[in-house]
Amino acid sequence: MSLERPSAERTSELVESLAEIRARVQAASSSSPGHTPTLVAVSKIKPASDILACYEAGQLDFGENYVQELEEKARVLPADIRWHFIGTLQSNKAKTLASIPNLHAVQTLNSTKAASALNKALPSDRPYPLRVFIQVNTSGETSKSGLDTLSSASDLDSSELAQLARYVLTECPKLRLEGLMTIGALELSLSASEVEKNADFERLKETRDVLDGYLGGLSGDGEKSWGRQGWGGLTLSMGMSSDFEAALKAGSDIVRVGTGIFGQRVKKST
Ligand SMILES: *Cc1c(COP(=O)(O)O)cnc(C)c1O
Repeated sequence: MSLERPSAERTSELVESLAEIRARVQAASSSSPGHTPTLVAVSKIKPASDILACYEAGQLDFGENYVQELEEKARVLPADIRWHFIGTLQSNKAKTLASIPNLHAVQTLNSTKAASALNKALPSDRPYPLRVFIQVNTSGETSKSGLDTLSSASDLDSSELAQLARYVLTECPKLRLEGLMTIGALELSLSASEVEKNADFERLKETRDVLDGYLGGLSGDGEKSWGRQGWGGLTLSMGMSSDFEAALKAGSDIVRVGTGIFGQRVKKST
């Protein structure tokens, strides 16, 4: 992949939509002062020149879904970009992912096998652990990947999610369990989906609270070795173009916006 300059026309289009999304993020999170959510610009299938235009407008966090595409883009784009992998995670791709020096986070961890593969493949001279988010299936749709939610009534010893979190903490020194991620229900109709989305956000929060309590019980009083550094507590990655404002109002820490910044995507031809 070679890196071309974005056209002046495309640049002004992107700068404008990025500024609009940023303003909306700011407005939706103004009720919780001191808390600055992270906007991840989801650039899958979009050309590297689009990313460069946003980068030059100050955007550093970008999300990609396909390992090879991410690897190629990372090679030609600036090294201080923070890449978030948000696609389906397969253990056999862990090596390629782990070789990207500025891979900032993997948001779609869903098995001990993948955690172990990532931990093993990461270079030992990486300056900081790789942040991971466990993907949670908050809508319960079978088409969605992610692990089951937790509630206060859950049996944590038989919960795949609790056990994966524990595995990352105890067995994966090159990973830092940063938080939980959800995609949420498919949009069926606007009004019904709004209700559904909010239920998804509430379920992710409840899951986070239960898991935080569980991990706290395991590790005693020391400094938390999970969650956001120096802040403690698992963070929440929830909210996309159609619902990021609702997600922020519900307490999201990270929103992932693609279409709202880059416009519609054509289907990936593989
Ligand atoms: C594509 C994608 C997004 C962005 O979706 P938009 O609706 O375009 O904002 C966010 N999260 C994940 C996991 C995605 O795959």
